[in-house]
Amino acid sequence: MKWKSQIQNLKAYQPGKTMDDVKELFNLEKVVKLASNENPFGCSKNVETFLKTNAFSHAIYPDGYAKGLRMKLSEHLSVEPGQLLFGNGSDEVIEIISRALLDGGKSTVMATPTFPQYKHNAIVEGAEIREVPLDSAGRHQLDKMLEEIDDTTSIVWLCSPNNPTGEYIRNGELVSFLDAVPSHVLVVLDEAYYEYVVAEDYYDSLELLKSYPQLMITRTFSKAYGIAGFRVGFGIGNKEVIGKLEPIREPFNNNALAQGAASAAIEDQTFIEECRSHNRKGLQQYYRFCEENDLDYIPSQANFVLINFGVSGDEVFQYLMSKGYIVRSGEALGYSHSVRVTVGSHEQNEEVIGRMKEFLALQKQV
Ligand SMILES: *Cc1c(COP(=O)(O)O)cnc(C)c1O
Repeated sequence: MKWKSQIQNLKAYQPGKTMDDVKELFNLEKVVKLASNENPFGCSKNVETFLKTNAFSHAIYPDGYAKGLRMKLSEHLSVEPGQLLFGNGSDEVIEIISRALLDGGKSTVMATPTFPQYKHNAIVEGAEIREVPLDSAGRHQLDKMLEEIDDTTSIVWLCSPNNPTGEYIRNGELVSFLDAVPSHVLVVLDEAYYEYVVAEDYYDSLELLKSYPQLMITRTFSKAYGIAGFRVGFGIGNKEVIGKLEPIREPFNNNALAQGAASAAIEDQTFIEECRSHNRKGLQQYYRFCEENDLDYIPSQANFVLINFGVSGDEVFQYLMSKGYIVRSGEALGYSHSVRVTVGSHEQNEEVIGRMKEFLALQKQV
């Protein structure tokens, strides 16, 4: 068959072990998953109420324009309905943008390490990938990224807070960058962890959108909103950009249940505020642990933290998993001596920190 040459070595996404796998493998009663940055508090009661009402129809196609959700979200964000693009997760929004703007003659610029789907989609489309290392603090080097842009460049990907470091782009940096980027480049700002940010010098991306028409923002209902299982993400851009992307989207890409669940989730901003505040306290638990044990970590604006144990991340990951705590090894994330831990509930954090202390004690004995 005539496969695209660039997909020859592409690997399918490797999902981590499920909680059931780990239970069985290590004969455990209880397993805690702090690996995928899901919300430990689940989602708003509003969503549960919606699901009980069964207010959606199974036999007919969903609204392909997601009108109800679109209206609710445009009001919540104070943007026009035509400035929104919905995807089956923001993963799909990334795919749509890539399909529309990348091919064999184009190049795309991104940081490394960062969220892997930008690169993955660029490979599928056959575009040239230009990766700019994060600095030693885990931050984007926007000046270096700027140098990588030329006439062939169609997309620059910025991830802020960045996955897997939790670092963010400062307002001043972003404005200077946007001032300097040539107008033929779409700047995609991935804000999957937007709801968790508390830093004062975080930019106001929706405000920037008014002055920089080449900016596009992506956000998701999978993280703070706690409905990853429903797969709803969205892009926010100026109407001309969104108008170009809309025809690339599949006609019924968000199912009826997901549209209803996301609409219900938006209405409960108190839940989001509570989660943001729990998350800050949770991060403090990890920071304290790191400081007490002389471990390096990157201060995070997201709901996860990257901790450097000074040994292979796989080793830490394996030890914690054998005790029923699933985190992400930094080996696959570009930080070989670290693990990325999702901030859980207060008790979950205490428990996994207890296991981390055990791991450190065992290391000392060797
Ligand atoms: C989790 C994540 C996404 C994907 O979220 P979905 O909306 O569930 O597809 C996108 N970007 C970053 C940086 C993420 O961490």
